[in-house]
Amino acid sequence: MLLIPCPHCGERAQVEFAYGGDATRQRPHDGAPDEAWYEYVYLRGNPRGPHREWWLHHGGCGQWIRVTRDTATHAVLGAEPAGGPPGDGAVSGIRPDGKGAEEGGRAPAGSAAAEAGGSVA
Ligand SMILES: [Zn+2]
Repeated sequence: MLLIPCPHCGERAQVEFAYGGDATRQRPHDGAPDEAWYEYVYLRGNPRGPHREWWLHHGGCGQWIRVTRDTATHAVLGAEPAGGPPGDGAVSGIRPDGKGAEEGGRAPAGSAAAEAGGSVA
């Protein structure tokens, strides 16, 4: 069982969370070509190594968080507040090759970092 460090509640068991998908995906803008929507809706990577994911803490604070987890070892490397639900434009600093886990990325819309024009540390 995974122990997930919720930034709001502390370390909790995985059973309190629901997986919400890949937090590195970015929703295409309105009017984007069909190929962009096809890729967003249907195509998924299967990265090995550190990967950023959405998790909902339904058994605790009820907040969406972004968890960095190693898909090869299941080690949870960190977690941060999402600032909004999945699909709101949040992106991760993790590239599809799994590198760049801590290189930042744009914060979710509505978060303090996004409003300040900064990046997530
Ligand atoms: Zn929580």
